Amino acid sequence: MTVNKMYQGSCLCGGIRYEIHGEIGEIIQCHCQRCRKSNGTAFATNAPVKKTEFKFVQGEHLLKFFSSSEGVERGFCMQCGSPIIANKSSAPEYYRLRLGTLDTPVEHKPRYHVFTSHKAEWDQICDDLKQFPEWPE
Ligand SMILES: [Zn+2]
Ligand SMILES: [Zn+2]
Repeated sequence: MTVNKMYQGSCLCGGIRYEIHGEIGEIIQCHCQRCRKSNGTAFATNAPVKKTEFKFVQGEHLLKFFSSSEGVERGFCMQCGSPIIANKSSAPEYYRLRLGTLDTPVEHKPRYHVFTSHKAEWDQICDDLKQFPEWPE
């Protein structure tokens, strides 16, 4: 018997609410400068979710996209600034979910760090996960 997974999430102000009716893919910690700036943090925790399994249940009109580089659009709440999802033209069937916006628990843990050659010099990675200087091939 397969259990149909369901996750829920929201932005900081609660204006945007979403549901994922499916799996959350491999979780990664991204230390690239654009993720750091868009989140205001040492790294972003992101995972792919299928667009067909992701739906906004409230406030989709509050989602604004900013194109941060060629082929990458970052969607955030224009009321509170929470980053929610990113669109990557290299993987058009998926959103890259910003995991910190989830309200329901996730069983799996982050798998690895990417763009560690771009990490903030004040940031210290204190786990044994594999580190990739850029995006792994
Ligand atoms: Zn919001
Ligand atoms: Zn990044």
